[in-house]
Amino acid sequence: MTKSYTSLSEIRREIAIGEVTVEKLVKGYLNNIAINAHLNAFNEVFENEALVCAQKVDIRIKQGIAGKLAGMVIAIKDNICYKGHQVSASSKILKGFTSIYSSTIVERLLAEDAIIIGRCNCDEFAMGASNENSFFGPVKNYADETRVSGGSSGGSAVAVQAGMCHAAIGTDTGGSVRQPASFCGMIGLKPTYGRISRHGVIAYASSFDQVGLITQSIEDAALLLEVMAGPDEYDSTLANVPVPSYANDLKAPGIKKIAYLQEALSSPGVDAEVKNALVNYIDKLRAEGHTVKSIAFDHLDYLVPAYYILAMAEASSNLSRYDGVHYGYRSPAATDLISTYKRSRSEGFGKEVKRRIMLGTFVLSAGYYDAYFAKAQKVRRLIREKTDAILSEYDFILVPTAPEPAFPIGRVEKDPVTTYLSDIFTVQASLTGVPAISLPAGNNNKGLPLGLQLLAGHFKEQELLNFSKYFLEL
Ligand code: GLN
Repeated sequence: MTKSYTSLSEIRREIAIGEVTVEKLVKGYLNNIAINAHLNAFNEVFENEALVCAQKVDIRIKQGIAGKLAGMVIAIKDNICYKGHQVSASSKILKGFTSIYSSTIVERLLAEDAIIIGRCNCDEFAMGASNENSFFGPVKNYADETRVSGGSSGGSAVAVQAGMCHAAIGTDTGGSVRQPASFCGMIGLKPTYGRISRHGVIAYASSFDQVGLITQSIEDAALLLEVMAGPDEYDSTLANVPVPSYANDLKAPGIKKIAYLQEALSSPGVDAEVKNALVNYIDKLRAEGHTVKSIAFDHLDYLVPAYYILAMAEASSNLSRYDGVHYGYRSPAATDLISTYKRSRSEGFGKEVKRRIMLGTFVLSAGYYDAYFAKAQKVRRLIREKTDAILSEYDFILVPTAPEPAFPIGRVEKDPVTTYLSDIFTVQASLTGVPAISLPAGNNNKGLPLGLQLLAGHFKEQELLNFSKYFLEL
C-alpha cells in the first residue's frame, strides 16, 4: 500500500517541500486500486486521464496558480454526470450511456484543480444500504471483506477507506453517504437540502436527494463543501444562503446543548457496542461541560415508513424516463413501442429497483394516494416540525448512524425489511432536510468501524463542522 494522507493540507505541505508530487500521488492511488481491485469499489478508473491531469496540476502548483483543491484526488459515485464519461447508476439500463454534460459539482471540483480518478460502484440508482443491489456486484468492506461496505455510496466509502483516492463524492437520499462512511470508519457529510446543486446528478427521490462527501478529515469536508455549495441556475431547489469559507472559518465550538434519542439506548434493535460508543461520547461531552439530555421522539416509528413511501413514489416517477428509447439499454427482443418499454425496463432494471417502482406506483395510484402518499406527506410535515422544535432548543441531535456495524454480505437478499429498518437514524435528516454528519467512533471488538451522527439546524453546516472537529478530538 502506498502512504495515504488524511488531509489536503498535509499533502500541500509535502508538495511544497518537494516530498511528493500530484503525479506521484495519483500513481499511488492507482497502485492501491490495482491491489484492491477485488473490493469492487470502482466501476471505472480514469487512469490515463488522471495521470495527465496530475502533471498539469503539478505545473500549476509550481506556477503558483493552482486552485483550492490542487492535490486532492477524488472518486465520484457512478450516478454523477461527467461530460464524455460513462455513467451507469450501477444499472444495466444505462449500459453504455455517456454523459453529454457535466454536473455542476464536477465542474466546480475541476475548476479548483481536483483530479477525478474514477467512478465508484453503488447500489442501483442509489437504492439500498449495502451496495449489494448493484448490477456490478457488491463492494467489500476493507475492514472485513466478508462484510458489506454499506450503501448506497459503498464504492465511494471503500475507495477512501482503502487509500484508492483522497476523498469521494456520493449522494445521500436517506443515509447513503453517512451510513457507508460509518461502516468504513470515514467521515460522511450530508449538507442541508438546497445547499449543493444536483444538476447532472441522476435523480432517485428529488425531495430528498443531496450530494454528500466522504473524507478522512473535517478540514477536507469543509473545503469540499465550500467548493461545491451555493446557487446554481440549473437547480431551482438551491437556497440563496451565502456560502461561508467553511474551511477557513473552522473554530472551537464553545459550550453546546446536545439532545440524544432515549430510544437509541433503550431499543433492543441497537447493537450493544453501538450503544456503548454513544454512552461513551455522552459521558465525555458532559465531562467537558456540555449539556447533554435525552429526549423522546414520538414519531420515531414513523420515520422509516414515511421515508420509504415518499422515496419510492418519487423514484417511480423519476425512473419512468428509462424507457428503452431515450437512454442506454434497449431490449433486443422488442418488436414495437410497448414491448420496447416493457422488455427494456423488465430486463434493464434489477430486482430492488423494480420492487420500488411497483410500490411507488401503487402508493400514487388513484385508490391509494390518500391512504399512503398523502398521509406520508402529512407525517413528514409533523416530523419536520418536531425536529425543528428540538433543534431550536438544542444545537445538535446525537444518534448512532446505524443500529449496527457492517453486516455480512448476503443478508439483505434474505431479509430486505431489516435493511429498510436499519435506516432509522439516517432518514430523519433526509425527511426534514437538515444537515447531518457521520463521525468515526472507534471499532467494535471484531475491528469493525462504528459511527455516530450529529444533526444540526438548517444551513448550520459551519457549526456542525466546528463541533465535529472538536468531537473527533475528544
Ligand atoms: N437506504 C436508503 C434507501 O435505500 C437510502 C438510500 C440513499 O440515501 N440513496 O433508500
